[in-house]
Amino acid sequence: GTTTKPPPLPSPLRNSKFFQSNMRILVTGGAGFIGSHLVDKLMENEKNEVIVVDNYFTGSKDNLKRWIGHPRFELIRHDVTETLLVEVDQIYHLACPASPIFYKHNPVKTIKTNVIGTLNMLGLAKRVGARILLTSTSEVYGDPLVHPQPESYWGNVNPIGVRSCYDEGKRVAETLMFDYHRQHGIEIRIARIFNTYGPRMNIDDGRVVSNFIAQALRDEPLTVQVPGTQTRSFCYVSDMVDGLIRLMEGEHTGPINIGNPGEFTMLELAETVKELINPAVEIKMVENTPDDPRQRKPDITNAKQLLGWEPKIKLREGLPLMEEDFRLRLGVAKKK
Ligand code: NAD
Ligand code: UDP
Ligand code: UDP
Repeated sequence: GTTTKPPPLPSPLRNSKFFQSNMRILVTGGAGFIGSHLVDKLMENEKNEVIVVDNYFTGSKDNLKRWIGHPRFELIRHDVTETLLVEVDQIYHLACPASPIFYKHNPVKTIKTNVIGTLNMLGLAKRVGARILLTSTSEVYGDPLVHPQPESYWGNVNPIGVRSCYDEGKRVAETLMFDYHRQHGIEIRIARIFNTYGPRMNIDDGRVVSNFIAQALRDEPLTVQVPGTQTRSFCYVSDMVDGLIRLMEGEHTGPINIGNPGEFTMLELAETVKELINPAVEIKMVENTPDDPRQRKPDITNAKQLLGWEPKIKLREGLPLMEEDFRLRLGVAKKK
């Protein structure tokens, strides 16, 4: 038989959101480390249109260069502490510096980004009826007295320390998310992200994995901060992005821990980097910074049961992938 096709729409209407079945997704902080990998994954789906807003404080356009000019992609220089007017279906709210040296650089700005930035994104979500996901952090547990940390643990956080702009800022951001949910019926999702690593991390941002890899490649001693027995659990970035998307698409508000439960001391991490990347490099003990949590490991029971998610990439598999990216950016070829 014959099918009758409706006449084509005049082009301004054809381009309007009203006539499209595409999902329009806002990623704040999308020019950063995790954000740009999230954008890559979202752009793989042809039904997604992605809008990134970023003020380029710690992120860069370079991380998104493959998408600039793509018809389903838009990049806006914008600071989330200012009002934002866009029409979207989902918001991944990542904007916030994640590395201590950057978030301590201007602590008042960090608080504003966490509090006013999250308030603005919630106001936007309310106006357009979008679902919003916040990337919170394991730092909300502070220096934890419960190990490993389940989501039900309320944390042990110093409210007036040098890290407070970040960890207390994220705690207020979580509070705002739940108050908008309860008071205005906004659909919310909260991920508590544990230490994440991978390609595109800022080379000199002071975080332990990026420091050790850059030091190993530059033949500089690996700087283990005392006592070296403090632990962290490191999640490869592709696993993290899968977890965030599952959380957004699922039915649970969270908060849900997303991280890799493999736990290492900083000395073990240094030994592993040395063995894999540069066996000749030295390991040097150096001073630590105040309020450094002594141990950290996610309890991911909820992520497994509620999202069907668990990390796939082990530290020993992820480190060489990051090494490759750092070699290219530092211009250090592999020795034959
Ligand atoms: P990142 O610093 O690489 O990315 C953050 C991005 O936000 C950058 O592109 C930066 O320019 C942008 N940004 C900062 N302030 C902004 C503002 N006021 N307005 C607009 N843009 C702004 O960090 P990341 O590692 O990709 O972290 C992303 C998110 O994940 C953050 O919310 C962070 O708190 C959270 N997180 C990360 C880790 C981790 O291990 N990387 C751990 C826990 C939580
Ligand atoms: N907001 C925004 N984009 C919008 C809607 C709101 O940035 O599309 C901001 C707005 O500037 C306000 C915040 O979100 O500061 C909270 O908005 P809400 O409507 O919840 O509160 P109100 O404007 O009533 O204080
Ligand atoms: N650390 C280290 N050497 C470095 C940088 C960090 O030993 O060059 C330690 C630091 O003391 C902390 C751990 O590594 O115990 C993780 O630090 P990072 O800043 O990467 O993340 P966070 O403290 O936010 O978990």
